[in-house]
Amino acid sequence: MAKRSGAIKSWVQTLDVAIAEGAEIRMICTTCKQYRDVDLVALRAKLGGSYSLINRRCRCRITPGCEGWNQPWYREGVYRHLWDEETNERWMRIDWERQRHVKNK
Ligand SMILES: [Zn+2]
Repeated sequence: MAKRSGAIKSWVQTLDVAIAEGAEIRMICTTCKQYRDVDLVALRAKLGGSYSLINRRCRCRITPGCEGWNQPWYREGVYRHLWDEETNERWMRIDWERQRHVKNK
């Protein structure tokens, strides 16, 4: 179970701030457990400095054919997750619904 943690730090709120603060952010897959460090500067060039990685996840782009989710983590001593409790519950609901639909087919 995910442990309830404090608020997400201000220095990872947007790409501009994260780059200025030298933040290290990586996407870790829920299924294959592989990770990829996010190139914050390249991402900013594409999406703009006000873009935030908080509460973002995407289908696994690390391992071909993997059905998992790549979820954002940031380093503060150890890696901490970059999503809040509310989003965690929403993601779990979505995954549970999907699982149920798959089983009913
Ligand atoms: Zn994966």
